Amino acid sequence: MIENKAPASLILLFGATGDLAKRKLYPSLFSLYEKGWLSNRFAVVGVARRLKGDEDFRHWVKDSIRTFGKPSARLEEFISHFYYQSHDVSDSSSYIQLKKLVDRLDETYSLEGNRVFYLAMSPEFFGTVATHLKEDGLTETKGFKRLVIEKPFGHDLQSAIKLNNQIRKAFLEEEIYRIDHYLGKEMVQNIEVIRFANAIFEPLWNNRYISNIQVTSSEILGVEDRARYYDKNGALRDMVQNHMMQIVSLLAMEPPIRLTTDEIRSEKVKVLRALRKIKPEEVHRFFVRGQYDKGRINGKEVPAYRDELNVAPDSNTETFVAGKLLIDNFRWAGVPFYIRTGKRMRKKSTEIVVQFKDIPMNLYYKNGSHLNPNLLVINVQPEEEITLHLNVKKTGKIMETTPIKLNFSTRNIDGMNTPEAYETLLSDCLRGDATNFTHWDEVALSWKFIDTISKVWEKEKGEFPNYEAGSTGPKASDELLAKDGFCWWSDTELNGKNC
Ligand code: NAD
Repeated sequence: MIENKAPASLILLFGATGDLAKRKLYPSLFSLYEKGWLSNRFAVVGVARRLKGDEDFRHWVKDSIRTFGKPSARLEEFISHFYYQSHDVSDSSSYIQLKKLVDRLDETYSLEGNRVFYLAMSPEFFGTVATHLKEDGLTETKGFKRLVIEKPFGHDLQSAIKLNNQIRKAFLEEEIYRIDHYLGKEMVQNIEVIRFANAIFEPLWNNRYISNIQVTSSEILGVEDRARYYDKNGALRDMVQNHMMQIVSLLAMEPPIRLTTDEIRSEKVKVLRALRKIKPEEVHRFFVRGQYDKGRINGKEVPAYRDELNVAPDSNTETFVAGKLLIDNFRWAGVPFYIRTGKRMRKKSTEIVVQFKDIPMNLYYKNGSHLNPNLLVINVQPEEEITLHLNVKKTGKIMETTPIKLNFSTRNIDGMNTPEAYETLLSDCLRGDATNFTHWDEVALSWKFIDTISKVWEKEKGEFPNYEAGSTGPKASDELLAKDGFCWWSDTELNGKNC
């Protein structure tokens, strides 16, 4: 039986007044508190620049939980564990003062020296904060120390190595929890269960029975107020290097010998090592980029990416990526994994489609029946669903078939309330379970793969804008699959026609 309750711990939250803390972290912590999954012996120290003191901070946290969480009568009691320190991340005296507060709280709440340092702030500070935590004595503790670090972890392989070397001077690899919030999502965690707890799938989960796998993560939103960050990064770095590669590794990995952090990670790393390297001259063949033009979404005019606030009028940044990945091992040789992600698309959806190969002969075709391929569709968000597409007999017709769907949706379960990804990940980290966090080897291998593509794209001007806001992306993304005789299944469903 897995113990859900976290041990006594102090959470030091850098970036305590930021958007992430406000929308996700405080509501998630409160939800853990309500479930009884936080120890009664806990304290949170918020570190930022903006607020005046504990009272101001507690007010801020309450406000965040009232707006984004589910407040209850226990909110006041919860909030009494929160403390604030105004802080400058590059100033040693700030850390020395912080250490005094931390040592005091350690005693007050009997925290046994257990510390989680959560860096919810701009990545440019990650290295500086980690260095100061060590140099100014905050990591010297008799309990556990863990560093939770938000994305992005570097900008390319070289900068990721530099950052990693810097934080490794203060923390061991097993003390570093690199957040990929997709790994906290219920349906992403379900990939393993579907594969390894069902006898009907694992025997078919290979190149003999699967023709291709598609992973789409599309947003309706544009760049919003993230342009300063996004315009320097683009969809490849913001989405593909981390979330999409992680989903592909979970779909493609071999069954681990045990469900432990090390065994699962080691299988995921093997997938990334087996990814076929793309040569610079092949990038155009395997990858497509796009940038959104103006268009209409939900009946409203929306501007082109280049007309957004803080975006250069000639920006070469991609807001859409589609790619074909090949995994050169016995299980997957010859099976394309298509990935696609974009902003300002027709619908908000993260979806995995596993397309099985056609049966060797269609006995029903002569009677006018078209057989759809069998699909296993996993909807990660906003819906959480698993659907199996089958062909059955058309009622009342002698030998005609019709496609049907066997569906499981968390929406249909009474009282079901899926936890927010951050709630799951915070709980994992407090309990010392690093399975759903990214190991350095995974980060390095995915940057290595991505860097070839971004280098080519940086050198060449994209023919942007090349897709209308509210569409399914550039035409070239459909052609990428059409060349192999496939199509994006989720679009097909939207258009109401077959491939
Ligand atoms: P934000 O800009 O809203 O907040 C930044 C925080 O850092 C603020 O509390 C600010 O006071 C503090 N800060 C800035 N400079 C400081 C300094 N010199 N000294 C001390 N404190 C300082 O950022 P955010 O959107 O909350 O994002 C934080 C991190 O989380 C980033 O790495 C981001 O990429 C990542 N992230 C955010 C989201 C999200 O939904 N917002 C989602 C995924 C990942």
